[in-house]
Formats: sequence, structure tokens, C-alpha cells
Amino acid sequence: MYLAGKWVGSDRTTEVLNPQDNTVITTVPAATAEDMLFAIEEAKKGAKKAANLPVHLRMTIINKAADYIEDRSEAYAVTISQEGSKTIKEARNEVKRCIQTLRLSAEEARRINGETIPFDQSENGENRVGYFYRFPIGIIGAITPFNDPLNLVAHKVGPAIASGNAIIVKPATVTPLSALLLAKAFDHAGLPEKILSVVTGNGRDVGDVLVTHPDVRMISFTGGLETGESIARKAGLKKLSMELGSNSPAIVLKDADIKQAVEACVSGAYSAAGQNCIGVQRIFIEEEAYADFKSSFLQKTAMYKVGDKRLETTDMGPLINEKEAIRVEKWVNEAVEMGAELLIGGKRDGAFYSPTVLENVPENCTIAREEIFGPVVLLYPVSDLQAAIEKSNDVNFGLHAGIFTKDIEKAFSAIHQLNVGGIMINDSGDYRIDGMPFGGVKGSGLGREGVKFAIQDMTEPKVVSFKLQNVGTQL
Ligand code: NAP
Repeated sequence: MYLAGKWVGSDRTTEVLNPQDNTVITTVPAATAEDMLFAIEEAKKGAKKAANLPVHLRMTIINKAADYIEDRSEAYAVTISQEGSKTIKEARNEVKRCIQTLRLSAEEARRINGETIPFDQSENGENRVGYFYRFPIGIIGAITPFNDPLNLVAHKVGPAIASGNAIIVKPATVTPLSALLLAKAFDHAGLPEKILSVVTGNGRDVGDVLVTHPDVRMISFTGGLETGESIARKAGLKKLSMELGSNSPAIVLKDADIKQAVEACVSGAYSAAGQNCIGVQRIFIEEEAYADFKSSFLQKTAMYKVGDKRLETTDMGPLINEKEAIRVEKWVNEAVEMGAELLIGGKRDGAFYSPTVLENVPENCTIAREEIFGPVVLLYPVSDLQAAIEKSNDVNFGLHAGIFTKDIEKAFSAIHQLNVGGIMINDSGDYRIDGMPFGGVKGSGLGREGVKFAIQDMTEPKVVSFKLQNVGTQL
């Protein structure tokens, strides 16, 4: 692992498995609470170095890290695909996005601005001039999930370094290699020691130390709601950024281009084997378009190629492990036992789970309310837009939503009423660029990532006021 700028090993190790066949790719240190405490102690010195690093050097280092990754794109993609669920095609896309996230971070470093303050708006502000500027908060603890093991780490490391902070990453235990490769890029780029650590340990063993330590001033977490809530309860008085999950809705109105809607919803539902925080889970279709949409959606689902992640022709790989595939299977079976109809899929082979479509799913099924995080879609006919909006909002999540319609009034109606962090018109909610504000409401999280917005969270304003005596009158 990468501890305060040094590559270190340990006698205690964790195997990193390829979920496709459970072969061991390699082992990484199983860090202890003491390792994490050491990383924090060193990060205190790192935070000072980071804050004093001139912006032009921060930019150079981040861009060099991006260059390093660009030169080795295929190797990075192979690692993502080996340790995670993604097919090689999906993994290549993640590498591209990581490079973009880093370049954006370098760019945004020069735009961490303040503002002058018109103090004389108050009586007690006469004869004063001043401003606020943003300064780094110090040490950031970053906890990341398995499903985008490179780019989601870059979304924390890039903005943290751009804004002059030290950062300690605790990657998901099952996918630590991509995060270590990111550290390697920064190491090669000349990032001063102690600014970055990647501590490969189990959440239970090292998580609490990071989350509860008073010198860690912010926890930037991406992961599930349950873990997020438990971290929020323990963290105490520090900043929190919570990028959590969802069971995203897509609304298809009768005037929509059905072909376009089907294509977007199929890829939105099954990309990364459905292990995608903005993946499409619930589709509400106006009754008049339901039969058309359903038959075309099932046709496309049947054509989806599940198999070996290494092959260019594969559309979908396995879930992250067999345990997760068994959970998905259980939730689908529960829905079927409670009266849902299985239209296609529902088959498990080890960690692989076939693309699955259900209809008539009772409202009280787990799958109707929680995040499936697997390749399963629920279809619902609805009488009109209003019914679709109400059903979309009737869950404890609100990350992204999509609506397909040619009617601008209806699109705006959805924009105003859907309680989510992002709405895509004529696309599924599975759309993101790395420079837009990204995050959710309700159980989907707190705060926004998207480089510029993460930088906002990773810095604090500091106000400066000069009290003046005799500066003369203005012309
Ligand atoms: P998870 O189980 O919540 O784990 C996320 C991270 O938290 C892992 O690094 C995990 O470590 C760590 N962790 C677990 N217990 C901890 C503790 N007590 N203290 C500190 N850290 C702890 O999530 P996941 O299964 O990896 O990822 C799937 C979830 O992430 C889904 O809900 C998905 O929607 C969400 N997600 C959200 C976004 C977004 O941007 N909104 C993006 C991607 C994913 P271990 O691996 O060691 O357990």
C-alpha cells in the first residue's frame, strides 16, 4: 500500500480476486488501526506541505499524473476489469474519465477564488475593506466503493490535491488495485510525500480510526446508505460528503421516441452489471406506450451478451462476487413469491446474474423500495405523468432521474417536481460528465462532487477585514 508516500508491505494480507472465476490476482496488505493512525499522523505534516504547494505546481503534478495514466491506459483498464465487474470496454471508458477528472482538477486549481465584501452595507462596516478567500481544510478521509474503483477515487484525490489538502484513501477491500495505481501515477508525478496515502484495509478494521479521528476534518464517502449513515453517526464535528445509492426512475411518456428510450434504459440498467449508483431500476411508462416499450425492451435485453469480461463482444460481466449475486437472486425471488411476474432473466451462475425484467411488482417488496445494485429492472404502466412523478418520488432515494418526452411543458413539470439531484431529458438518469455537480437528496446523499463542487466542500472561506482610518473620500 502507499503509506505517506512510501510503498509498504505487511505480513497480514488480503487476496484480491477476479470475480469472474475467483482466481487470485494478487494480495495487498490488510492494514491495521495502527497503520491508519500512522497515515493520519504523517498526513498532518502532509497537509502543511499541500497547503504551501503553489497552485502552478499542484497543476503540474496533477497533469503529470494524468499523462502517466494516459500513457498506460490499457494496463489501467485491464486492472479495473480484472478486480471488478466491468468488461474491458467499460473499464477503458472509466480510465478515460479518470484522466478527464484529473485534468479538470488541475484546471480548477487556478479558479479557487474569493470575493471582496462590501462591508459598508452595515453601519458597523463603514471604513472597512476586505474579502474572503478559500483555504484548504487539512486532512480528508476518502472512503470509496468497488464499482468505479479508479475514477471515483480520482474524484476525491484530484480535487483534494488541487485545493491544497492531504488525503487518505481507504478503497473498497475487493478493489484496491486501481486506487493503488492512481497513487502510483501521483508518486511518479512528484507529489511530495505524506500528502497522499492509500490504506488497503477492511472498513471495520481501519474505517473507524479514520472516521472518528479529530484531525481528519472531512470524510468524503462514496458507498451504500447503511455504511454512510453509520459513518455519519460516528464522525462527529467534521465535514461530510456522502455520495450514496439510489433506485433511479425513468419516465417514458406516450409521445416519446420509444426506440431511443429503450436503448438508453437498457444500457442504463445493465451497465457494470447494474452496479451503478445512477443505474436505471424503476421504469414508469404511460399506459398507451407500455406494450411497445415492453416488447422492445425485452428484445434488447435478450440480446445483451453476458460473459467473459476480457472479450470485446461482451456487454456484461459478473457481479462483484457470488454473495452479491445471491442477494440479487433472493430479492428477485421474493418479488416473484409476492406476485411479481418475471419477464426475462432471473438466472444465476456463480457471480453472474442474467439481465432481468419484472412487472407487477408489489409495492412492499424489497426490490421495489431498496437499491438492487444488480441487473434488474421493474416496469410499471402509469396513467399519466403525475402518477409517474409520485411513484418516482415515493422512495427514500433521489439521485438521478430520466424522462422521455417531446413535450417541453411536461419535461419542465418533471424538472420541478422530481426530488432528485439530476434530471436527464430524453436520456436515462445514467448520464454524467465529470465536471457537473453530482450527488443526491434524501437517502442518496449530502453534498456534490464534480471537481469544482468537491473543491468547494474541501475548502473553507476565511474572511479578512481591514479597518481603515484616513483613506480620503472617493472621487
Ligand atoms: P459499501 O459497502 O457501503 O462500502 C463502501 C466503502 O465503505 C468501502 O470502502 C467499505 O470498506 C467502506 N466501509 C464499510 N464499512 C465501513 C466502516 N464501518 N467505516 C468506514 N468505512 C467502511 O458500498 P459498496 O458495496 O462498496 O458500493 C456500493 C454502493 O455505493 C451502492 O449503494 C452505490 O449506489 C454506492 N455508490 C454511490 C455513488 C455516488 O457517487 N453516489 C457512486 C458509486 C457507488 P470495505 O470494502 O472494506 O467493506
